[in-house]
Amino acid sequence: MIKQANWRLFTKSSIFGFFVSCLKKEDLTAMNYKYLFGPVPSRRLGMSLGVDLVPFKTCTYNCIYCECGKTTHLTINRKEYVPLKEVVAELKDYLDRKPALDFITFSGSGEPTLHSGIGNIIDFLKTEYPNYKTCLLTNGSLFYLENLRKEVRSVDLIIPSLDAVSDIVFRKINRPSPQLNPQKIIEGLVSLRKGYPSPIWLEIFIVPGLNDTKSELKAFKEAIQKIKPDKVQLNTLDRPGTEDWVNSASREALERIASYFGTEQVEIIAKFQHKEKKSTYNKDIADIILKTIKRRPCTIEDLSEMLGLRISELNKWIHILMETERIETEKKDRGIFFKAKF
Ligand code: SF4
Repeated sequence: MIKQANWRLFTKSSIFGFFVSCLKKEDLTAMNYKYLFGPVPSRRLGMSLGVDLVPFKTCTYNCIYCECGKTTHLTINRKEYVPLKEVVAELKDYLDRKPALDFITFSGSGEPTLHSGIGNIIDFLKTEYPNYKTCLLTNGSLFYLENLRKEVRSVDLIIPSLDAVSDIVFRKINRPSPQLNPQKIIEGLVSLRKGYPSPIWLEIFIVPGLNDTKSELKAFKEAIQKIKPDKVQLNTLDRPGTEDWVNSASREALERIASYFGTEQVEIIAKFQHKEKKSTYNKDIADIILKTIKRRPCTIEDLSEMLGLRISELNKWIHILMETERIETEKKDRGIFFKAKF
């Protein structure tokens, strides 16, 4: 109890205040916002500023592999989950400083298309900051809605996911809101493709034993032929998901799947190679997280409380530290703990 009480004294204002004083002013910008995070180096997008449009774990799915934990608000209701005006004000404030970015990405720890104002934000960025490219990272579940397809028409890149074609596998992997089914989602993606002029990269997250069976892969192949994405990207688990029985697929297995799909557009998502060389990579934040974890293993919630960083922001840094093999995970009763490797 005493340990816990003392620990609680070191909250945002004390520990984080100390860390903040160690950082350069220009490094702090994205940390001061409520709805923006990063910019962080992303495997696929280069330096990407994240825009988080829904509260933590507000999603149409509750995926077994979700790295953010269980969905706390499972819904398909679109609404203004966070104030549109505040998101726009934060974007304006940040982008007026002319940061070097490869993409502004709608992502985070929930499903961004649930926000009813996403189209307004995309339009705002296109009108006021046309030099910045935008990307939508989405689970793709709501494109059966014609309005949504219109709203996202001017985004520069859409990366939707599709993890199952059969209903049974869909419910096992994505544990969706009950109103959703794979046929509706595939039809939505087909309609999106017909009316959307920019690239679509379809991501398939392989969960061995569930969506890599002969029949599911055959169904995927047919769905890909219908959707006609510009690329298919195969992904798999690289750190603990919500359920600890979920395993990763081997590289060889992903290669076999890629060759079965048989189109040149299939790629296995490569690990990010150049993050240390990017000038805006904020090494200080990664170091702070690493130093904290070195003192004692922490869950992502511990880190969020101690450092005053949002979970979606932390998630990106944890991802980088995992990819560069500086930290590892351990599953305990209280959740997934991150600890330093050396
Ligand atoms: S992985 Fe994405 S779609 Fe699945 S529950 Fe997590 S946030 Fe939602």
